[in-house]
Order: sequence, then C-alpha cells, then structure tokens
Amino acid sequence: MKVAVVKETGPAERRVALVPEAVTKLRSAGHEVLVQTGAGAGAFFPDESYSEAGASVVPADQLAAADAILMVGKPDAFQIGRLRSGQAVLGMFAPLTDHELVSQLASTGATAVSLDLIPRTLSRAQPMDALTSQANIAGYKAALLAAATFGRFFPLLITAAGTARPAKVLVLGTGVAGLQAIGTARRLGAVVSAYDVRPETKTEVESLGATFIELTSVGAAGGEGGYARALTDAERAAEQAELADHIARHDVVITTAQVPGRRPPLLVTGEALKSMTPGSVLVDMGASALGGNVEGSVAGQTIVADNGITIIGADNLPSSMAAAASTMYARNISTLLQYMVKDAQLTVDLRDELVAGVVITHNGKVVHPALAMAAAD
Ligand code: NAD
Repeated sequence: MKVAVVKETGPAERRVALVPEAVTKLRSAGHEVLVQTGAGAGAFFPDESYSEAGASVVPADQLAAADAILMVGKPDAFQIGRLRSGQAVLGMFAPLTDHELVSQLASTGATAVSLDLIPRTLSRAQPMDALTSQANIAGYKAALLAAATFGRFFPLLITAAGTARPAKVLVLGTGVAGLQAIGTARRLGAVVSAYDVRPETKTEVESLGATFIELTSVGAAGGEGGYARALTDAERAAEQAELADHIARHDVVITTAQVPGRRPPLLVTGEALKSMTPGSVLVDMGASALGGNVEGSVAGQTIVADNGITIIGADNLPSSMAAAASTMYARNISTLLQYMVKDAQLTVDLRDELVAGVVITHNGKVVHPALAMAAAD
C-alpha cells in the first residue's frame, strides 16, 4: 500500500504525522511511503532523515497517488480538493465540532478516519489513542509554562537570602492532561490542589501527592465513556461561585476541562480573576475559537490583565514540543493504519467497534452514528 505524509497546514502547527522511525516500520511491513517535502521540518526531522528511512520525499502534487494520506490536524481546501473515492485520509479532525468539514470530506468519496474519536475504553485501542498521547504532552508543558511565567519559585527554598514558600497550584479538570500537569507541578515542588466534576479521579489526584477539592454545590457529573457531561446552567453557576474562593487562594491555576463535542466549560469567571493576587498566572488549555475555561482568555495569546494577572491561552501545546508529540502520534496513527489494513488494503469493517468509532465518512456518506445524527438535526 502507498502511504503519504503531508506537511501540516494548520496555523503554527509544527507536528508531523510520521517520524522517520515510523517510516522504517511501515516499510518493513511492506508499505511504500511518500513524504511531502519539508513535512518534518517543524519537528526537526529533515527530508534526508525520511529518505534514509526509506521514504520518497516528493512535492505536494505527487501525494495524490497514495492509498492513505496521513496528517495531524485538519486538511485545508487544497488537500480536500485532491481527495478521491478509494482513498483514505487519517488525522485528528475534531468532527464533533466541525460539521462543515465532515460534509466536505464525505463529498470527496474518501474514507475519513478521525483519531480523536477512538473508543478509549477498548484496551486494543490504547496504542492508537492520540488524545491521550497529546494530552500528556500538553499537561506537562502547561505546568512548565506556568512555572516559567510565575515570578516566584515553585519549590520551597531555604537560602541565606531568605525562605521562599512553595507556589500554590490549582489544576481544574483532572483527565489525562490535568493529571500530567499535577505530576509535573509536584515534581517542581509546588503544593497542588485539583478539582474535577468526576469525583472518581480523586484517588488518582491523591496518588500524585495533590489534594482533591470537593465542591458541596455540584454533584458528580460523569457522562458516557468516562467523560464528563455538560453541566446545567444552575450547576455551572454554582460551580463557578464555589470555585472562585479556591481560585483566590492560589498563585497558579491550570485549566484542562473539556466536554466532548461542546465548547469548554467556563470555570474561572471575571469576578474570580479579580480576586487573585497580582503576579498570579493562569494557563487555559481549554482556550479555543469556541471559548475557554477562563473568562477573557484568547487562544495563542498571553494577556496581562490590569490587576497583574497573566492569562495564557494555551491552545496547541503539543505543537510546541513537536518532536516528542510527533513521535508519539506517529506510533498512534501507524498502529491504527496497520490495524485497518488487511491483505495490503485499508478495509472498513464497521462491525468492528474500534473501526466504527473512528471512521467518519465512507463511500460518499457520513457513517459515524454521532455525526449522522448531528447531520439529521
Ligand atoms: P477531557 O479532555 O475530555 O476532559 C478533561 C477533564 O475535564 C475530564 O476529567 C473532565 O471530567 C473534566 N471536566 C469537564 N467538565 C468539567 C467541569 N465543568 N468542571 C471540572 N472539570 C470538568 O478528558 P480526557 O483527559 O480525555 O479523559 C477523559 C476520560 O477518558 C477519563 O475518564 C480517562 O480516564 C478516560 N481515558 C480512558 C482511557 C482508557 O480506558 N484506555 C484512556 C484515556 C482516557
């Protein structure tokens, strides 16, 4: 089978779908690999490293011959325009919040496979779980960004010039990214507290040496598949009000809360921001075009508010660690690709729960149940 890797076109995207090590593995499995010129440059994998791994480095217009096109983010108009029936395209397309892209992909006739829909509770899907690999990187980098921006120490320091108390860090949302942010902040010596609407995360939080905050005004809000459900307006207002007291007592707040297919919940209101001490830092990993977890945060921007609070809208942290993120993503996407290849062809067996979970369009139709329902709405 012919597999192609594109140069990403998303704004400030530095990752690449396959690293040379993954090319070698696909070559030994019998696949031919085409890599677009400069595809790995942002992650510091030069074209020569792909040639040495056995790939053909070619211009964009020669990728169309491939049976499967691999990417990290969404395809642009040029890439969509070149997709065709009988071809597969794999990437992270955020289809639950981009219905227009889904219908464009369907109209090409190509089989579109979105790694961000992988059914994560299936143990055989774990090596393909790009959401987890990328969230781990994001959580780690969020804690480092907070520490680098905060004008004081994270650890307790006792020196001849005085004693510095440890920073108080609050992590809101304790899924994969939140837990990694907790672990990283703890390793830097901060005193960490955390909160999530899924109280089952308490033991994981505590095992990392952090304190789990329990809110009295909001009950458990676990939803399907181990994710949170969206809160009602009343629940959200109660959560924001009760969290505000905790936020005021912390130097650093890292927010990671997400509800699949929804805009990120607002956890830190303008009122809560006003109560923070000058010099405090917030890193909002929910920041996106849809809005974020922190009022006023802007994706990709660092804002210093009038009261001396820094709000970092951290929308694509994995891209800032492109080499590590691409290496992990390459393992995820090549494992999924090989899983779907039978007799040297990508096979779409929708009776397989894993395949049905990731294939969004096939033979000109939107086939994913969650998206077909949305299209009918
Ligand atoms: P996510 O990125 O969707 O959300 C991050 C966190 O935000 C979640 O913990 C969620 O509960 C929390 N959140 C949502 N709304 C909130 C609110 N209003 N207030 C506070 N917190 C809020 O989640 P994720 O990191 O992708 O992981 C979600 C689940 O998937 C977890 O249960 C995780 O254990 C599970 N998971 C399972 C597997 C597996 O079974 N193999 C692999 C990876 C993840």
